[in-house]
Amino acid sequence: MGEISPGHLLPSSRAAGSRSAPARRLRAAVIGAGMAGILSAIRLRERGIDTVVFEKGDRVGGTWRENTYPGLACDVAAHWYTYSFARNPGWDRLMAPGPQIRDYFERVARQYGVLEHIRFGEEVTGLRYDEGRWQLSTAAGFVDQFDVVIVATGVLHHPNVPRIEGEESFRGAIFHSARWDHAVPLDGKRIGVVGTGSTAAQLVTALVPRAEHFCLFQRTPQWVMHRPNPEYTAEEKAAFRADPEALARHVQELRTKTVEGYATAVIDYDSPELARIEQLCQENLETVRDPELRRKLTPDYRAACKRLVMSDGFYEAIQQPNAELVTAPIKRIEPEGVRTADGALHPLDLLVLATGFQVDRFIRPTKVIGRGGVDLDQVWADGPNAYLSVSVPDFPNLFLVNGPGSPFGNFSAIETSEYQADYVMHLIDGLIRDDYREISASHDALERFERERQEAGAKTVWVTGCDSWYLDKKGVPTSWTFSYQRFVDEMTSPRITDFERVQ
Ligand code: NAP
Repeated sequence: MGEISPGHLLPSSRAAGSRSAPARRLRAAVIGAGMAGILSAIRLRERGIDTVVFEKGDRVGGTWRENTYPGLACDVAAHWYTYSFARNPGWDRLMAPGPQIRDYFERVARQYGVLEHIRFGEEVTGLRYDEGRWQLSTAAGFVDQFDVVIVATGVLHHPNVPRIEGEESFRGAIFHSARWDHAVPLDGKRIGVVGTGSTAAQLVTALVPRAEHFCLFQRTPQWVMHRPNPEYTAEEKAAFRADPEALARHVQELRTKTVEGYATAVIDYDSPELARIEQLCQENLETVRDPELRRKLTPDYRAACKRLVMSDGFYEAIQQPNAELVTAPIKRIEPEGVRTADGALHPLDLLVLATGFQVDRFIRPTKVIGRGGVDLDQVWADGPNAYLSVSVPDFPNLFLVNGPGSPFGNFSAIETSEYQADYVMHLIDGLIRDDYREISASHDALERFERERQEAGAKTVWVTGCDSWYLDKKGVPTSWTFSYQRFVDEMTSPRITDFERVQ
């Protein structure tokens, strides 16, 4: 661990762009110092753009800084979940634990000179486009002006915290999975977890062995795919270190498996790839020995309709004698624990809400006012969207990385963000060359894109009868609904005519 080496995966077109002395000096603000913010700052600084990163936290790492729960890991293969330009031959396992990923982002931010350009503890509260520049203001009262803004505020950021009657009367501890209180003891305690998503599955696996008694409060069962997490041997790591081409081939293998399997499955519910995923999940479910427990854990919707949970320990953990799957709905919280609708009281010392995130917030609650006083809150009143997920009409020179409509899911968000960042840099290169002073997606382009994206959504697995964070309030998929190849093609060949350019 701890080493970073140049990567070789990406097509050369992705690194393209003007590296010559800028014709027009630009100042850029990046909002957020997580994976996408660090990446954006690196790309901007490569172009000689004066860049300030605003981060409301006190460290880099985004989701990997905020989530510190026991068992935290990334179920996307570590070598694929790595910047293409900063490979890490030393990953210990196929999938990396959260703290190692956070350390990786810190190392990259330091080595690429991003750290000294971050204003920590600085929450951006306002952005207003005025006379060709963005006026940025922060909660601490800092005000500055920028030519370009990149929004890298993440999607899984604002915790979804359900209000449960009687919560304040609870004598134990209660918190959301992304707000872990490490002062609360776990060993030998009575622990409850609400939720059955990817977070809960990792929590169950980590906490059942430590708890005296463990309750999983399940509203909806999830399909779980068995995913072992083998270690890389010392020889493999040495080979990756010695031969970046060997590492690049390995990344390509990991990538191909997901892109050809999962990416095809989710966009076509009739595909053999989805049938294969269903079969694997079914086989995994059949490892649950007690038929009654198996029945309770069996979803009534198709696999991958919700984000596929990957685990090598969830079913084993929930079958332990000290673990209990509670399917009766939660009625209220009482001083001693959780009362369910069947009248049972589940005594607890700790209740963890692994209840997910409000995924439609993106940059908000920051007040963003674009050209002509257009308010982003109003533009996004029915839900957020952006042309190809990177640009919103009337918000010139403001770009999103990992924005609405991105290929969320069991992909490498690093790879998709790199494609988006390079696309954004292509547009920014035009600003540097002074081809135009302002650029934002045209209304026509966004309308066409959204129409096609929603039409394609009708064939996805996400609309086959489950509720998930992949759907908006009207049941329309919020993610990329086309093929992954189309994403790559769109990102690597920008159509400048889809943008409104002002001289
Ligand atoms: P999630 O997938 O949105 O799951 C939330 C869970 O909480 C669901 O089981 C939901 O039940 C339940 N829930 C929500 N409100 C509830 C309420 N009021 N009462 C009872 N149950 C309630 O959230 P998550 O597990 O935190 O995962 C979010 C995303 O984070 C994932 O989809 C993934 O993209 C990412 N993630 C990734 C990894 C990784 O390894 N790469 C790990 C963790 C998380 P219903 O199903 O009934 O709504």
